[in-house]
Amino acid sequence: MPPGSPESGAPRPGGTETSLVDQFGRVASDMRLSLTDKCNLRCHYCMPEGGLEWLKKDKLLTAAEIVRLVGLGVNNLGVRELRLTGGEPLVRGDLVEIIAGIRINHPELPISLTTNGVGLAKKAQALADAGLTRLNVSMDTLHHDAFLQLTRRPFLDQVLAGIEAADAAGLAPIKINAVLLRDINDAHAAELLQWSLDRGYELRFIEQMPLDADHGWTREGMITAAEMRALLSSDFELTPDPRARDGAPAERFEVRHTGSSQLLGTVGIIASVTEPFCTDCRRTRITAEGKVMSCLFSRTEVDLLDLLRAGTTTADDDAVISRWQDAMWAKPRAHGMGHPGLGDADFVQPDRSMSAIGG
Ligand code: SAM
Ligand code: SF4
Repeated sequence: MPPGSPESGAPRPGGTETSLVDQFGRVASDMRLSLTDKCNLRCHYCMPEGGLEWLKKDKLLTAAEIVRLVGLGVNNLGVRELRLTGGEPLVRGDLVEIIAGIRINHPELPISLTTNGVGLAKKAQALADAGLTRLNVSMDTLHHDAFLQLTRRPFLDQVLAGIEAADAAGLAPIKINAVLLRDINDAHAAELLQWSLDRGYELRFIEQMPLDADHGWTREGMITAAEMRALLSSDFELTPDPRARDGAPAERFEVRHTGSSQLLGTVGIIASVTEPFCTDCRRTRITAEGKVMSCLFSRTEVDLLDLLRAGTTTADDDAVISRWQDAMWAKPRAHGMGHPGLGDADFVQPDRSMSAIGG
């Protein structure tokens, strides 16, 4: 059986189950919803230079469908946390309306946004006013030339202005996401950490995953979590954060300058490839066109859009809920890279790029 396949094949028990449980007993309470496949950057590890063929507008979940789907997740299926992502969610003109619509129905739900920060300076206050809880901004380097090389766009100053505006709007704690690419920005890791610590932002380094549309990823080429820790050790001492990880993808470390006892803050390292955390995964992913993906590396997608568009009665809702549960029941045990007993020789890169899944 190839890695990534559901293994037991046991049918989902019927009845009154009100969670997104899978056949290995994991319960998904963290919903990642992609708002669009479009983006205004062309990061090497994600999007090809010429972009991709974007989804037609009528294929995208509408604001009302998004609000309904989140409602079903929260009210019926145990969703406790929502992250809006993409593509680039800020390119959706109705983003503020979407967040406000969700917030009205779910006053306590933590709603976060992952964004590249381009255009954020103008929108941060409106997002906060609409009820966004916090955000992650992806920024891989503070150097204009490396930023241009990585993203193929000269927008670093816009991203920096966006982060500042988000901070001013109270969207704390701000997290910064960074992917390191060899000989492009790996040498900037310690500098980016110092910059983040100085401002009270939590930096998280993410291992590059084979989710680029160009299929250029290689295991030899990627910077591993172990290398990241070594890169940072020139300036910093990292010790495991004693707080419980609690299903979070990032392993957190306390940061001190080498030889000093003063705690400067924390840094996260997300080692999806070399130290995968599938056994603790709590995520359910919905693409911008309403397909459930039980895993980033899933090669199976389950459509909810047709059911959402079939009607809005309780019976229609029940059909969406049941299909979503079926999709999550079949979540694979692991993604097939880096797991003992699931060597990556048979690993097959998904057809979708990260931008088209929703990271
Ligand atoms: N456009 C937004 C952004 O860049 O923050 C949201 C979507 S993006 C797909 C979400 C996150 O996925 C970003 O932090 C990005 O760096 C990360 N990402 C994209 N491709 C990746 C890859 N191949 N491996 C690891 N992380 C990746
Ligand atoms: Fe766009 Fe985010 Fe992908 Fe970069 S990582 S190309 S910003 S979707």
